[in-house]
Amino acid sequence: MALSTISGFDDEDDDDNDDDWAPQDQGPDSRRPSLALTPRGGPPRINIGVTRWTQEPGAGDMDKDALAFLEKLVTTPSPSGYEQPAQKLMRERMALFSDSVRTDVHGNVIAALNAAAPLRVMLAGHVDEIGLMVNHITNEGYIYVTQIGGVDPVVAVAQRVVIHNSKGPVPGVIGRKAIHLTDKEDQGKPMKLHELWIDIGAKNKKDAAKLVSMGDPITFDVGLTHLRNQLVTARAFDDRMGAFVVAETLRKLKGKALKVAVYGVSTVQEEIGLRGARTSAFGIDPQAGVAIDVGHATDTPGVEKTRAGDFACNKGPIVCRGANINPVLYQMIVDAAKKARIPVQIEGAPGGTGTDANAIQLNRAGVATGLVSVPCRYMHSPCEVISLKDLDQASDLLAALLARMPPEADFTP
Ligand SMILES: [Zn+2]
Repeated sequence: MALSTISGFDDEDDDDNDDDWAPQDQGPDSRRPSLALTPRGGPPRINIGVTRWTQEPGAGDMDKDALAFLEKLVTTPSPSGYEQPAQKLMRERMALFSDSVRTDVHGNVIAALNAAAPLRVMLAGHVDEIGLMVNHITNEGYIYVTQIGGVDPVVAVAQRVVIHNSKGPVPGVIGRKAIHLTDKEDQGKPMKLHELWIDIGAKNKKDAAKLVSMGDPITFDVGLTHLRNQLVTARAFDDRMGAFVVAETLRKLKGKALKVAVYGVSTVQEEIGLRGARTSAFGIDPQAGVAIDVGHATDTPGVEKTRAGDFACNKGPIVCRGANINPVLYQMIVDAAKKARIPVQIEGAPGGTGTDANAIQLNRAGVATGLVSVPCRYMHSPCEVISLKDLDQASDLLAALLARMPPEADFTP
């Protein structure tokens, strides 16, 4: 979800972290388990001692192969404008369940099922994530940054990060002066984004510039960890999770007798202005489209339900209604949920949403648009939390919608 949100709040979404890099120099400590040395896709990664987890990861009913793909997708770096490592995964995955897959000049990946049918329905999940970008290197070799999308500087401090350079990934940390060295009145004060610096251990500017270039994107270095009750945490569920739902919907539709054409799109650059949905929707020219994104779960301390609505993890996908949503399509989504016995939570959005649904609706002469969201806690932070159950039900819902959509559907309100 981009920073301008349906509720009119500033949403602080910051999902980045990445553990895509292999150690370049393992040195004498290389046998110690560490973030850098733990293979991706393995158990929760720890870099101290012998922590034992007291619970088994709960995948619930989710397809095991799909879950492995989700983990791979969500730990692959994909800041807006730099999505192609994740798009490569999306191409490979969607090719398994569609008739064709192509990448457009903007970088959107578009998979099609039953493309010849006259009624075209587009699904859009944005594959990009927020992040940081190298902006300046000081003479001492410290790196100052600018932001890609709506990063909350408060959650960025003291994080491990990865700088993605064309020569390879570079690990670093976002430093902060020790509390002991900070004036009492400044202790606990949040830092602004332009005050953050990254320490990669460089000797000086020249040393840093060997590995880091202006414009390199940066992500937080965190993986996916299972919590209790099918909840999982990672960075960038916003919205790699949506791209995942698109791929899962195709998987669930494959082999079914479809009466409409389904275009599954892994869109780019949503976090910086809903850009990929705009170009891909123009190219596909669909009569209807559904965006899949995260929605704010409000079941945590400090969130006022009176302002932000009442949405909880593990209670099913959120279906949006309001000006951004075509009423005929909305009713079809709700009916499909009822028929397939999928629980849904309804949200109202009085204006354009901060999602791909807004760009899709305003394409050409207008497109009938829907929005299905998965409740997410701590949006735009390195510890976004969603439920695998809600996630699975989101693609169940879309597959149910598309499988029963009549070819003569008229979305005129
Ligand atoms: Zn977002």
